[in-house]
Amino acid sequence: MTDLRTHAAEIAEQFSDHLDVSVDEVEERLDNLVNEYKVPVEEARRSVTNSYLDEAGLERDAIAGGAGGSQLVELADIAEDEQWVDLKVKVVDLWDPGHESIAQVGLVGDESGTMKFVAFQTSELETLEEGKVYSLQNVVTDEYEGNFSVKLNRTTTISELDEEIEVGDDNATVEGALVDIQSGSGLIKRCPEEDCTRVLQNGRCSEHGNVEGEFDLRIKGVLDDGTEVHEVIFNQEMTEELTGVTLDEAKQQAMDALDTTVVADEMRTMVLGRYYRVTGPTFGRYVLADEFEELSGPADAEAVLIKARSM
Ligand SMILES: [Zn+2]
Repeated sequence: MTDLRTHAAEIAEQFSDHLDVSVDEVEERLDNLVNEYKVPVEEARRSVTNSYLDEAGLERDAIAGGAGGSQLVELADIAEDEQWVDLKVKVVDLWDPGHESIAQVGLVGDESGTMKFVAFQTSELETLEEGKVYSLQNVVTDEYEGNFSVKLNRTTTISELDEEIEVGDDNATVEGALVDIQSGSGLIKRCPEEDCTRVLQNGRCSEHGNVEGEFDLRIKGVLDDGTEVHEVIFNQEMTEELTGVTLDEAKQQAMDALDTTVVADEMRTMVLGRYYRVTGPTFGRYVLADEFEELSGPADAEAVLIKARSM
């Protein structure tokens, strides 16, 4: 979400009990003031809020203020996009923000599991420290391809708590024969736009249109243990380890062939039919490989054989 959209979503949420106001409509009004008339965002926000207060015949204190309007939830219960929630979490991991607009990015966790969080520079928030427990009020959920994250924003209230959280383990371990490598594997290009990273289709991002993509390696695979199939994703590091092909080598292969699909084809010949045990966090229906080992054969050879004969 853009910054304006974040504001718009908050305003629409504040009036959700009183008026039929869509986020789009609020965003359009904010956008008009900010971009057309160069009104500072905070002032535009006040102005738009006041006009809705008038329209609803309400006093300012009748609507839910920034914080306090959202509910305390556990991470595992987050299942909807653009929800305003409160969290009690421990900062498990902090990553390199990778973009100047991002202040912090990492992983927070509670008893129910872990989730990615992002805080933007423009929100000017207090810096979170790894290993500490915080109450985060008024964060907004974000969904992409079934994966949820939370975004801190300028209305987010951060309070450090003097307590310990036993962070739940949402890792899964699956094993089986790698029976398929799905499209979107091998040498792929990702959208370079801030906080996007969507995989491009024919040079296009579904959100940002035609962009100059950034190369990445990935394998989306299917493990079959004879009774069940599991979808797994190997990121660049794991794909390099799995195939022995580095990103640079993959780029070279693609350049030599004038075709990026040769990379996935080559990888197929190397790993299809082999047995793996993969462990990592689950995102939607995928297990994101954090570690893997190659097995000498099926854990349950009999079941695989029976299945193979029936196909
Ligand atoms: Zn994009």
